[in-house]
Amino acid sequence: MKNKITIFGICLAITFWIVDSVIDMLFSENGITFLESCFNPDGEELWIRTFVVLLFLIFSAYTERLLYIIHNLAAELKKYHQRLENTVAELKTENIEKQQVVKELEKLSITDPLTMLYNRRKFNELLVSEVERSKRYHNDLSIIMCDIDYFKKINDTFGHNVGDTVLKTFSEKITANIREIDIFSRWGGEEFMILMPNADINNAYAVAEKLRTIIEEAEIEETGTFTASFGVTDLHKDDTTESFIKRVDDALYKAKNNGRNKVEHLSSAA
Ligand code: GH3
Ligand code: MG
Ligand code: MG
Repeated sequence: MKNKITIFGICLAITFWIVDSVIDMLFSENGITFLESCFNPDGEELWIRTFVVLLFLIFSAYTERLLYIIHNLAAELKKYHQRLENTVAELKTENIEKQQVVKELEKLSITDPLTMLYNRRKFNELLVSEVERSKRYHNDLSIIMCDIDYFKKINDTFGHNVGDTVLKTFSEKITANIREIDIFSRWGGEEFMILMPNADINNAYAVAEKLRTIIEEAEIEETGTFTASFGVTDLHKDDTTESFIKRVDDALYKAKNNGRNKVEHLSSAA
């Protein structure tokens, strides 16, 4: 490519030089005489005519060569442009694929693989921001903690895979029966959290009671029915995330102690 550009430049310079010389020559005093003799050929001026014709032929050959080079150059440029366009398109596709992989990895890092709910790490992150938001705008914030009853026995009796099915069914039933804005996550093992923005303790208690009934009525082919216990509390203005979680854990503990398949609440006002 570089060579062709150099050759093209040299040819162009030579051609300009020839054309310039011919024009200079033709328009000089001698040139005028020469032109006159060309158009009035009288024997001895014949070689001059031959010279002009030769000059013209050389010039034509150069012009033709130049056109050929220009044509090749244009074709070369077109190919180069096409290659560039292809490279840009490939880079774009690669970039989109990389973005998709990053998104996928981001999603994996915050998702529990069995239930596809938020994992504990993501829940803690959302808990901090929801507690902050609730305190700043004086909005209600409640939380429900749930734990499947006698889950170890389900595993021991029916096997770990069936235990997994129970966990998935539980997650699906709860997801289908809470609001879009509620933050439902797997806290660990067979324990789950539902963070409820703009819900006071009475709302949260009613939701927990509704969910308890839904779970109690759900049937799984391999195991039949199963139950879960629920703890409920609301956020106090002096709460930290730790004291908030501790209170809902205590409420759940109370529900377990009261015989399981129960909802218990501990109000922040108490
Ligand atoms: P309680 O009624 O007091 O809640 O008793 P529990 O048996 O439900 O609770 P426990 O803490 O004794 O047992 C929980 C079991 O959950 C133990 C553990 O092996 C099982 N587990 C934890 N994660 C998973 C999981 O991802 N899949 C399955 N199948 N089992 C799990
Ligand atoms: Mg349990
Ligand atoms: Mg447990």
